[in-house]
Amino acid sequence: MFTCKQVSNLLNKKNFNDHPLWKRCLMNLHVKCCIFCGKYNTQVIETHEMCRELIKNEEALNNSDCCEIHLDESNKDAMKEKIRQSAESAQL
Ligand SMILES: [Zn+2]
Repeated sequence: MFTCKQVSNLLNKKNFNDHPLWKRCLMNLHVKCCIFCGKYNTQVIETHEMCRELIKNEEALNNSDCCEIHLDESNKDAMKEKIRQSAESAQL
């Protein structure tokens, strides 16, 4: 069983999911049972998980084709005309 200091040091050095399974299990056991560092280190582990999900989502977004979508020239011209008209009416 890890001590509070060992769990905190391990979480400071590496992302929770980068630790081997046996260490994660022991850290989880400590965090679930400990009244001193349990709440704090649970939040640290949740933050690591959120960061991992964010990075995964950003990579998926960068790999998707969403940036390849372009407007047709006719739609661009129509939008420009609408913007110009609304700018002119705002000036009047
Ligand atoms: Zn503890």
